[in-house]
Amino acid sequence: MSVLEIKDLHVSIDTEQGPKEILKGVTLTIKSGETHAIMGPNGSGKSTLASSIAGHPRYNITGGEILLDGENVLEMSVDERARAGLFLAMQYPVEVPGVTMTNFLRTAKTAIDGEAPSLRHWTKDVKSAMENLKIDADFANRNVNEGFSGGEKKRVEILQLELFKPKFAVLDETDSGLDVDALRIVSEGVNRAHEANNMGTLLITHYTRILRYIKPDFVHVFVDGHIAEEGGPELADRLEEEGYDRYLAKA
Ligand code: ADP
Ligand code: MG
Ligand code: MG
Repeated sequence: MSVLEIKDLHVSIDTEQGPKEILKGVTLTIKSGETHAIMGPNGSGKSTLASSIAGHPRYNITGGEILLDGENVLEMSVDERARAGLFLAMQYPVEVPGVTMTNFLRTAKTAIDGEAPSLRHWTKDVKSAMENLKIDADFANRNVNEGFSGGEKKRVEILQLELFKPKFAVLDETDSGLDVDALRIVSEGVNRAHEANNMGTLLITHYTRILRYIKPDFVHVFVDGHIAEEGGPELADRLEEEGYDRYLAKA
């Protein structure tokens, strides 16, 4: 059992007008096996939260803590975070020219585990994970994300999730731009990782439709850099009907 704790997190970015506070005190605890949905309007700071957990250098942590099993995540490099068991799927995955998927996956797996995976098992695992996610075998020899469609990038992110077996995954709008079939395939991959590894998940989304496939245990409404309300899955149903207006009026 692992626990990821975010305590009173304050984050600002540098703008031409000076520092701007984006996260205004976020507190959230996720345990192994739990799925937490963060839902909120555009511009509320959801991606800032994801990037801060991942260690993106652009974001300045001005207060609060992030702890993974009591260890200070904020003192870890991006690589150390991955080795500690954190996985982040970005809203806009980057292209890595000149690095094939096969090389990238094996290199990353080796870095995360601290040892190279046994070649026989690894080749089999990659093949079956690609089949599960309906990723064509040709992708193994293509450069990471280069020329991939939005939906293909998302599937490749979930491929990493299945192969790297993180303790916690932060999925930032993994549902955006997916058609219904791709959404189902991607969601099934997340659910498999959840079942196989007792993964804890922070699922960031603007829309409720992914929650038909990935069932959250907790829903947090995120508005203006903080959590405005928390509840169970029923809260997502209410957001589906009412939208975010009631929170924005108060914000
Ligand atoms: P969300 O993911 O909920 O849509 P973001 O975290 O992307 O929200 O953005 C939160 C706020 O921070 C927005 O007002 C956005 O304009 C601002 N912001 C985020 N990144 C930058 C940036 N690189 N430069 C300027 N403003 C930014
Ligand atoms: Mg569960
Ligand atoms: Mg975002």
